[in-house]
Amino acid sequence: MRHPTGRHFLQIPGPTNVPDRVLRAIDNPTIDHRGAGFAELGKSCLEGMKAVFRTGNPVMIFPSSGTGAWEAALVNTLSPGDRVLAFETGQFATLWAKMAADLGLRVDFVPGDWRRGVDPAEAAAKLSADRNHEIKAVLVVHNETSTGIRSDVAAVRRALDNAEHPGLLLVDTISSLAAMDYRHDEWGVDVSVGGSQKGLMLPPGLSFNAVSSKAIAASKDSKLPKSYWRWEEMLANNARGFFPYTPATNLLYGLREALKMLQEEGLENVFRRHDRLAEATRRAVRAWNLEIWAANPAEYSSSDTAVLLPDGCSESALRAVVLERFNMSLGAGLGKTAGKVFRIGHLGDFNDLMLAGTLAGVEMGLGLAGIPHRKGGIAAALDYLIGQESETA
Ligand SMILES: *Cc1c(COP(=O)(O)O)cnc(C)c1O
Repeated sequence: MRHPTGRHFLQIPGPTNVPDRVLRAIDNPTIDHRGAGFAELGKSCLEGMKAVFRTGNPVMIFPSSGTGAWEAALVNTLSPGDRVLAFETGQFATLWAKMAADLGLRVDFVPGDWRRGVDPAEAAAKLSADRNHEIKAVLVVHNETSTGIRSDVAAVRRALDNAEHPGLLLVDTISSLAAMDYRHDEWGVDVSVGGSQKGLMLPPGLSFNAVSSKAIAASKDSKLPKSYWRWEEMLANNARGFFPYTPATNLLYGLREALKMLQEEGLENVFRRHDRLAEATRRAVRAWNLEIWAANPAEYSSSDTAVLLPDGCSESALRAVVLERFNMSLGAGLGKTAGKVFRIGHLGDFNDLMLAGTLAGVEMGLGLAGIPHRKGGIAAALDYLIGQESETA
């Protein structure tokens, strides 16, 4: 097989492109995770993650994919037979709800058409109707990566508060953390779930739980079986910069470097960069005369954009030709969107020219795959980027 020249364009919405600085940091000798030298690494990662989640409470780091941290959030706070409220916003919300059911929770799954985020009014109605407070937790996916749709976490918090409902608020921020504005403390989130391979610019393999004191209190009474995911031992060890079992030491080197990069850029600038590249992407999609899958502009994701193809066109054929000809990976349609939607990841270590290359690959791919479209998507995106530049200059 011919060696593809140049860099692979990894434009799926996670894993994302890992910056050289992070790769170099990972490429260091593994050290003794019980030795004195480790604690400094452990502490800098645990402390640094608090700033990213915007919390003064502890953040835990697990050696697992994001799915593991979903499980940790549930098993540490809930008991068999507890009711949880979840919303069908897309594939990841569906999988998290399925996990809750698998673990023995009773899931009240509010159906959705995958084109909208959580409806805060619907959440409010469900919570007010639950007078006996049987619902112990509300599950929200902040950025539904399968659809490119953001849910309003603060509005769900208000729904809980207005109903004077004591349920815990559990939020999946796996594809929004360090890409889109997220505020664990200010939004009153009890457990935030994160992952390493999206906005954090790391390879897969680390996951996170940011907690509230209410969540920690709930963990004392929670009866779902747990051992590997148990917060208690994790928190006790983390207090000294250590872990109860072997941590993913080399990924922690990478995390320390990624945290440094986020701090150098400034989180607000990171969010602005993502918002701007996302808007440029949407302008390209509209110029192509294709449809943005998200129905409500207020809910557009800044991490990824899902694009609906005209009837009868195959997203997998488009992705195949883009990979084959241009060495670029685009996101597939998942679950209910399979076959008709493709996704452009524009999160993590990403800039104007990487977006230009990405959109060029898509536009050429649309032509090669015979998908009816107008030309000019790239130009529309670049015009927007230059316009933004002269505004801020
Ligand atoms: C990627 C993703 C997950 C799954 O994470 P894994 O690391 O694959 O286990 C869950 N939720 C959202 C919103 C995601 O984007």
